[in-house]
Amino acid sequence: MDASAFAVKNIPLIRKGDDIARILTQRAQIMEHDIVVVSSTVVSKAEGRVISQANLDPTERAKLIGIKNNCDPRFVQAVLDESTEVLLESPFLLVRIKNGSICVNAGIDHSNVEGSDNILLLPEDPDKSALEIKRSLFDYTGKNVSVIITDTNGRAFRIGQTGAAIGCAGIKPTRDWRGTKDLFGRILEVKNEGIVDEIAGFANILMGEGDGGMPIAVIRGLGLYDEANGIQELFRPENEDVIRKAILKLQSV
Ligand code: GDP
Ligand code: MN
Ligand code: MN
Repeated sequence: MDASAFAVKNIPLIRKGDDIARILTQRAQIMEHDIVVVSSTVVSKAEGRVISQANLDPTERAKLIGIKNNCDPRFVQAVLDESTEVLLESPFLLVRIKNGSICVNAGIDHSNVEGSDNILLLPEDPDKSALEIKRSLFDYTGKNVSVIITDTNGRAFRIGQTGAAIGCAGIKPTRDWRGTKDLFGRILEVKNEGIVDEIAGFANILMGEGDGGMPIAVIRGLGLYDEANGIQELFRPENEDVIRKAILKLQSV
């Protein structure tokens, strides 16, 4: 299979109310079944998810966690407000956020955000954001595309952050190889490939983390377009998640 990819150039600083699909189509030619990868940072900016820490009043719990983690208690409060479950309080906050994803600090960012006291929350519903961008791109171009919203995440067991998908539309989150054969005719029994994360990881290389100003990448030729929407199947069900259970057990002793 041949594939190609590029990061979109000359994207301005994104502000509340900006139309990301319009900004993209003014700068790049989109083709049928392209995969459009958009960093959560710009989706959040367009959705007005910037908040000022000055407006936050930390609870006693947030103050305690702030002391333990050597971190601003107002930032801790923002993380707690975005969370539905706290798996780990210290040495860093590992939480489940409203869309079901588990991540450090609820994915709240300081970087690439204007204003020293401002922080950026993840999009409220990244699957919905992905679907809206997909629909707008169809309206503007007549092309059916996949959209993946990404964030840079740390990883358990390994050094080095990578891009991860947090929402998607027009693509299945996984590619299931179970029941197919390997080179020697053996039936594959467990391989279910997390393709949206693999694509997010590659797109993240094109975007970079710093002042490159390239929050959108387009991946072409993978042949992965599908009418499916939503990333939920990527999140391990609570009762099957042995790592989550082990962390919670550790907390309770
Ligand atoms: P995250 O991985 O979603 O948290 O996003 P990052 O903060 O790592 O940014 C990813 C890429 O988008 C980098 O190339 C940034 O320079 C760029 N970026 C972030 N915000 C903006 C923006 O408002 N406008 C433009 N043009 N680029 C941005
Ligand atoms: Mn981020
Ligand atoms: Mn990043």
